[in-house]
Amino acid sequence: MIKTEGLFFKYDDEKDENKYALKNINLNIVDGEFVVIIGHNGSGKSTLSKLFNGIYYPTDGKIYIDGLDTSDESQIWEIRKRAGMVFQNPDNQLVATIVEEDVAFGPENLGLPSEEIRARVDEALESVKMSAFKRKPPHHLSGGQKQRVAIAGILAMKPRCIIFDEPTAMLDPSGRKEVMQTIAHLNKDEKMTIVHITHFMDEAVEADRILVMDEGEIVLEGKPKEVFSQVEKLKEIGLDVPQVTLLSFELNQMGYAVNKENLTVDELVENLCQLK
Ligand code: ADP
Ligand code: MG
Repeated sequence: MIKTEGLFFKYDDEKDENKYALKNINLNIVDGEFVVIIGHNGSGKSTLSKLFNGIYYPTDGKIYIDGLDTSDESQIWEIRKRAGMVFQNPDNQLVATIVEEDVAFGPENLGLPSEEIRARVDEALESVKMSAFKRKPPHHLSGGQKQRVAIAGILAMKPRCIIFDEPTAMLDPSGRKEVMQTIAHLNKDEKMTIVHITHFMDEAVEADRILVMDEGEIVLEGKPKEVFSQVEKLKEIGLDVPQVTLLSFELNQMGYAVNKENLTVDELVENLCQLK
């Protein structure tokens, strides 16, 4: 679904000749995969997501979305139809004064017939569980609800892949939970490819694969257990691990027979119950 080959990117206004925001990124994200990208501020996550969506073009190397080369300007709308983006602040993405009009905005721009638009809007709002709010003004909604409407706006374009750039960063815990449940639903039930950028480590636990970025490079990659068991490496680049994993790691270091790779409370409890 998303493939990059020897991808490098440098911002035009970057004064330092040698400073690339992205360095030699080689990725292959397959159809239906749920990939989480973590990394501290400035590591290049947002830059990479904007390259996926054809907002920026590679300085060197290639990106293909569903086989389409993002450097080919004639394909840009095809690419954006297939890979939608959801950003941090839903207020910046909501444009209309009524929820259903907002969700209709994308399909209207595709020039679809009005019955088709109607059907897509209803289906998208249903998928994010916001149908009951379709006639409400977006500014009356909570942060989590607004973000779900923003997601519905992308769904109405029927993309195969959605790239989320820190969609929960501005939300309270219940809003975060709503959005995470929506993302899980899109991946598990609707079989969509998901790229989710986050700095909340607990949101990465459910991923098929985690990519860890540092200074424009992918420095670590693997299943959640493989990545989070590298506690020292993650600390070295200034990242946390989920609390359960950290506690398991520390108990293990103290000599208890606890699995360092535990990710969930249940796994840790099971280990602890087996201790003599
Ligand atoms: P992240 O999303 O991981 O916080 P970014 O992709 O935003 O990281 O930034 C990666 C690097 O690119 C940083 O060094 C940042 O300062 C730089 N950068 C980001 N946006 C711009 C821009 N518009 N112009 C120049 N440099 C930028
Ligand atoms: Mg960012």
